[in-house]
Amino acid sequence: MSKHAVMPTIATIERRVVACRKCPELRAYCAEIGRVKKRAFLDQEYWSRPVPGWGDPQARVVLVGLAPGAHGSNRTGRVFTGDGSGEWLYRALHRAGFASQPNASHRDDGLTLRDTFITAAVRCAPPANKPTPEQRANCAPYLREEFAALRNVRVVVTLGKIADDAVHALVKEIGTYGSPRGPFAHLAETVVDLPGRAGVTLLASYHPSRQNTNTGVLTEPMLDAVFERARSLLGPSPPKEI
Ligand code: SF4
Repeated sequence: MSKHAVMPTIATIERRVVACRKCPELRAYCAEIGRVKKRAFLDQEYWSRPVPGWGDPQARVVLVGLAPGAHGSNRTGRVFTGDGSGEWLYRALHRAGFASQPNASHRDDGLTLRDTFITAAVRCAPPANKPTPEQRANCAPYLREEFAALRNVRVVVTLGKIADDAVHALVKEIGTYGSPRGPFAHLAETVVDLPGRAGVTLLASYHPSRQNTNTGVLTEPMLDAVFERARSLLGPSPPKEI
């Protein structure tokens, strides 16, 4: 983006994401999921379009997930809404005061996020939750634009290794490291500078997928510890401008 280019707003990015067709195989896959449906949701109209980030455009905490769930946000059209991962995530966000309610069932369920924005590395549901390197690269510009628009970000919670890799790829592109990146681990922290924002903390978390929560790899106290840490990192001060 040139120095004088107009910065897209979150609303503009959302419109572009929803209309995106850069990965035809993913668009066809998502449409097919919405046509066949899951037995429990046969009476519902699936969203089956790319799922944009959502939340508070002034947020100081940004969460980055992997990609929409086939019968979760690919069905409901809102990130982490309508599946087991979302149940875990929004319960934890509510306990920490970042969400207005503990449940997220559909786009009009009344949920609001406080000081928080949630997005993903990839915005179309991929087969087996495994986007290809090309699909991840296709979707990366939207994350870059969101980070340019979210001017108050202080803490970035990366949910799982793929999200963590996507955020670090972005930092390598547009930012600088204030502390070295270590291996991906739950509660690992890296301090980075982003354009206009010094001392942003990247805080890694295991993804609240059923695979992790059903096996005890991620427990509710472990997820609570992430948002307690995010809360403490915010501290009382406003974002520092550089
Ligand atoms: S994954 Fe991203 S880049 Fe690919 S079609 Fe969906 S929104 Fe577009």
